[in-house]
Amino acid sequence: MGADRVYLDWNAGAPLRAEVAARLVEAMGRAGNASSVHAEGRAARALVEAARRQVAVLVGGDPRFVTFTSGGTEAAVTVLTPQWTFGGKPLAFDRLLVSAVEHPCVARGGRFPAERVETIPVDGDGLVDLAALDARLAEIAASGQRALVSVMFANNETGAIQPVADVSRIAHGHGALVHTDVVQAVGRIPVSIADLGVDVLTLSAHKIGGPQGAGAIVRATDLFAFQPLLIGGGQESHGRAGTENVWAIHGFGLAAEAAGHDLKDVDAVRARRDRIEAFVRSAAPAAMLFASGVTRVPNTVAFAVPGLSAETALIALDLSGVSVSSGSACSSGKVGASPVLTAMGVAPDFLKGALRVSLGPTTSDDDVVRFIEVFGKVLADLTKRQGTRAA
Ligand code: PLP
Repeated sequence: MGADRVYLDWNAGAPLRAEVAARLVEAMGRAGNASSVHAEGRAARALVEAARRQVAVLVGGDPRFVTFTSGGTEAAVTVLTPQWTFGGKPLAFDRLLVSAVEHPCVARGGRFPAERVETIPVDGDGLVDLAALDARLAEIAASGQRALVSVMFANNETGAIQPVADVSRIAHGHGALVHTDVVQAVGRIPVSIADLGVDVLTLSAHKIGGPQGAGAIVRATDLFAFQPLLIGGGQESHGRAGTENVWAIHGFGLAAEAAGHDLKDVDAVRARRDRIEAFVRSAAPAAMLFASGVTRVPNTVAFAVPGLSAETALIALDLSGVSVSSGSACSSGKVGASPVLTAMGVAPDFLKGALRVSLGPTTSDDDVVRFIEVFGKVLADLTKRQGTRAA
């Protein structure tokens, strides 16, 4: 990060960790396809297999059940297919049930036909309605159909933590299988595939300080398998064709290891986030803090101040050297109404103003002070404008 910038948009992408960057540069000096049998190939393979172990450790998984992909999106789309196998025999899903607050890579339903994708509502804090899930799964099971359920662990816009273990218990009770997207949870809260009880989870390198363009699928067991998205060579044990992106995977593994260590410092991240939150509450008492009634990951706060448009605030903050995000995870670069906040029942006036501030392990107290200073000015300008209009 430039010394003059304050980067508070870690949920969009964490800066590449300095120690990972240094090791990557070193690895990039070497040739080698991880499938080749010569020394260079074996060296590349060693990096990939080390990364497989490092990623498995981060989520309490077994390295044998880790499949590398190009990112969190590809990982989710690969898993969200109606075509799986169980013990080598075909296992077909008739329905995909997703929560109403999923990232678009899940919300779009992966490879399920649109008419077979159903959305389970959430409450005002963005937590999935477990009773609705239970009831719908009971109906599906009674009709002789089978469902796959996908509910994320931590929300990218609000940080709300979903009751994934309950989702797994309910879903398994109806013979359904469960996927969870842990992209925003790893490195922020402990993630254990066994404790979550899910059948498969997906994660991404660039949210934990690894390079962009690497992700992983981790299965709980190899009894289950999904139809690969990319078909061709036999890489990744026939789970994902194409030459492995050895450098990105290497960086992912190193970042995963570091992210595991970050967990012991999360109280400091939480304290800084809470300081920002306390400032917003005191400087703008009419502000709405999203998902404030539930446990959130310690690095995220999302809110809206009445009368302050997200676009105006983003630009003003950016011009003063502070990077945050609008509440909407809009990949087109435009600020639009967030489907996540809409699903939570947030009123249109607040939707327009949704801002997300997300911190990371290297966010400093000085960064927090700078944000408070600059955002304080944005709020003061707003008060002045509102005063002029009222006069
Ligand atoms: N899932 C969540 C919750 C995310 O926040 C993101 C990225 O914003 C993704 C999935 C997609 O990951 P990637 O950018 O690696 O495709």
